Amino acid sequence: MPGAQIRQPMFSRLRDLIAALVILLPTFATSAVELDAAAAARIDAVDALARSTPSGAIASIDTLLKSERDGGARITLLTMRGVYQTSANQPDAALATAATLDSLATQDAKTAALIVRANAVRLKGDLSRALELADQARATLSANGDSRQSYRLEMMRGALLLELGRQADALAAYQNALSLAERLKSAVRQFRALDSMATLFVDAGEIDKAVDANHRANQYVQTITEPAILAQSWDTRARIAAFQQDRDSELKAARSALEYARKAGEPERIETMLINLGDTYLKLGRYADALEVTNEAVRIARQIDDPHGLIVALANAGQAQIRLGRLEEGRKNVEEALSTALKLDSRAQYASLLTEYGEALEAAGDYKNAINAYHRERRASKALAENSRKNVLLELDARYQTERKQREIELLNRDNALKSAQLHNRTLQQRVWLLAAGLLTTGLLAIALLYRRVRDANQQLSESNRMLKVRSERDALTGLFNRRYFQEAMRTRSASGGFVGGLILLDIDHFKRINDTHGHAAGDAVITAVAQRLQDTMRESDLVVRWGGEEFLIAVGPMPDEQFDRLAERLLHAVSREPIHYGEQQLSVTISIGYARFPLAPGHLPLEWERGINQVDMALYIAKAQGRNRACGIRAVTASNEAELDEIERSFEAAWRDGRVELGLIAGAPAA
Ligand code: GH3
Ligand code: MG
Ligand code: MG
Repeated sequence: MPGAQIRQPMFSRLRDLIAALVILLPTFATSAVELDAAAAARIDAVDALARSTPSGAIASIDTLLKSERDGGARITLLTMRGVYQTSANQPDAALATAATLDSLATQDAKTAALIVRANAVRLKGDLSRALELADQARATLSANGDSRQSYRLEMMRGALLLELGRQADALAAYQNALSLAERLKSAVRQFRALDSMATLFVDAGEIDKAVDANHRANQYVQTITEPAILAQSWDTRARIAAFQQDRDSELKAARSALEYARKAGEPERIETMLINLGDTYLKLGRYADALEVTNEAVRIARQIDDPHGLIVALANAGQAQIRLGRLEEGRKNVEEALSTALKLDSRAQYASLLTEYGEALEAAGDYKNAINAYHRERRASKALAENSRKNVLLELDARYQTERKQREIELLNRDNALKSAQLHNRTLQQRVWLLAAGLLTTGLLAIALLYRRVRDANQQLSESNRMLKVRSERDALTGLFNRRYFQEAMRTRSASGGFVGGLILLDIDHFKRINDTHGHAAGDAVITAVAQRLQDTMRESDLVVRWGGEEFLIAVGPMPDEQFDRLAERLLHAVSREPIHYGEQQLSVTISIGYARFPLAPGHLPLEWERGINQVDMALYIAKAQGRNRACGIRAVTASNEAELDEIERSFEAAWRDGRVELGLIAGAPAA
């Protein structure tokens, strides 16, 4: 398992020890406390002893204290004893030393007591209290302005603050320490402050700053020959290399750190560096090498009775063995590490050991035990969670509050979304209605337009129809009814019982001559003029028809013979009375007429209108034959049936001569 986290308390204690030894001693040497040469020599000897065996140093100090009567020297010795006692895991003994210092009742002694007490309390795990004591010591120190004591306190405060997770405050403390060290022009102190900052930066993941601080720290290392300091320096480099995944540099640095730790001779430091090197070997997969150095760490941990170091060393040794396939031995070691962790109530460490244990077992194919380890880890983590239930609940509550706020925001957003959707919907609906209204209006307009167009079209159609009807009923040149119309009219008029009324057939005399002399257009003009004159002569109710080229037919209602003769005469006169104007021409025109009254006298034989026309056509022929410009009316036809009538028609002139047909001839006036 990575040593850094677990080893932190031990590691920090070592630092403090170094700080105490290296910094405290010069303080006493140069302060108001006058030490004679013999006393200084004795202290140097204790100091040297403390570097290798703190317990031996403590015993020596106790011996010295029995004979030392100088107040300043006693404070110095008592302070050293308290610090060494803390380093030797004897916090209660250290507290007792602090009480002794308090009893001396001087300001220096009280400050020294606070420092010793802070160290002891910190070892007992009450970091906050330790910080309080350190801060108190700092306040009393600032009054007498001892830079060395201030430096030592800032370093301790930095370590405490770091352990309390207050990295920024810790960094500030180390920076204060660095300033004090610079003022004191002390290479060792400057190294210590910078090295602590480098370590802090590595832990914070600020590797560039860590490298920079380490580089600055190493400048002072050049002038330092103290192996404990050099070991510290290499260890920090190993940590930086580890963070950078630079395994070669990490291995080289870890080996150097171990080498200098061995030179320094202090077993706890050797143990730490062994564990660190073993850790590096594990990461490199060099399990045999890892096992070798870790086994040595286990031996030292047992020797110096360091349960924290023992847990890590045993766990790492076990892991190396498991990876090497020595499962039984490995499990035994890890299980011992686990039970030791439980004894120390290091539950977090216990759980994290189980995770690595499971991973190692799984990698070695021991799935059964791997699963078991995972289950135990789960239980441990659960217990851990139960232990900090209050914190967890508080955290959960905080999270719940946050989530509730988030939910409220979400709901608000949803509500807004809904509202905007509704608004959108409403807008859409309005748009639909507007569109519908628009469509309706447009539709109505379109319908109105269409209606008008249809109406216009209908009007046009009816106009066309009317025109068509006119065209179909009327003669284009004269505007008179045409033959077709007449036939239609006759069909409806003489539905049964033959035609009743008068028929008048008219033909322009020598019309060919007009055409030949004045042209066809003149002929047309003559036809048109004759038609007009005929129409002007007749009544509205009379049917005047253009029967053929220059022939006209008039059908009239029943009337007496006399009246009928006058009509024929009037027609002759109407046409011939005035010449017809055509351009410069004055054209004299006459007509010939054949007419008859139906049913024919005297037999009143009912005849179809077609047969009636045959009769008047024969009368017209007689009028022509009699010299033109005259009307020939049939007064009577002696025929009692259709066959006799057929016979008459076949030779009409002969029948007129033999009296079967009676005609009346009216001569027209000479043409104007
Ligand atoms: P008659 O006195 O015996 O009737 O002599 P006519 O010259 O009128 O002889 P007829 O009735 O046989 O001749 C009709 C002529 O009228 C023949 C034709 O060329 C001419 N005609 C027929 N329809 C039209 C027309 O619409 N316009 C013109 N200009 N000439 C027409
Ligand atoms: Mg004719
Ligand atoms: Mg004619």
